[in-house]
Amino acid sequence: MANKEKTASLLVVEDEESLREGLKLNLELEGYEVTTAENGPAALKMVKNEYFDLIILDIMLPEMDGITVCETIRMQHNDVPILFLSARNNSADRVLGLKKGGDDYLTKPFNLEELLLRVDKLVVKNKKMKAPQSVSDVYQFDGCIIDFAAHECKGKDGQMQELSKKEAALLKLLVEHEGEVVSREQILQIVWGYNVYPTTRTIDNFILNFRKYFEEDSRNPKHFHSIRGIGYKFTA
Ligand code: CA
Repeated sequence: MANKEKTASLLVVEDEESLREGLKLNLELEGYEVTTAENGPAALKMVKNEYFDLIILDIMLPEMDGITVCETIRMQHNDVPILFLSARNNSADRVLGLKKGGDDYLTKPFNLEELLLRVDKLVVKNKKMKAPQSVSDVYQFDGCIIDFAAHECKGKDGQMQELSKKEAALLKLLVEHEGEVVSREQILQIVWGYNVYPTTRTIDNFILNFRKYFEEDSRNPKHFHSIRGIGYKFTA
């Protein structure tokens, strides 16, 4: 029942209506936020625009099979956990599914309790992996100072500069992941919240501002990097 604290957002991709609706209902009873898709192309469109903590993906789908859907998601550098469902108890299918980037696999008919346990495990594991390093309220690098609590910074020109709430949140996220690429999906989830989608351009504009504040030469950034099609990286 919904006594566990869960705010994870799941996508269920299944063409069989009764199973799709049954899964949605049971997952919602567990406290998850659930979106559904009936086919692969619809699922891919949703994945492109929204952040999900986990996808439950049927393999036997009309138009585009689940393995192709998974492969396409991975080609977009999206590492959302994927749990495959298959009607076939076929080990070749299982191996192929995992090889193409799936994280787990269940054969139909499955036991609901087992599905819920696996979903919980994948969601928790994913959240742990994304747990950031802790950064104190005042952070210094290369002669610059960022005060996350006061929402201000001292940039390359030595001037104090006010930061908007979103600027401070995005800076904090990048600093917490210093040296790592932070994906667009992570930024959407943490800075903008679930299911709201600013365009890539919006995030780019924030990065351009950061370069203006903190880079000696904003055309040749040393600290704020955009990695095309993947995300953004801060290096101190
Ligand atoms: Ca199916």
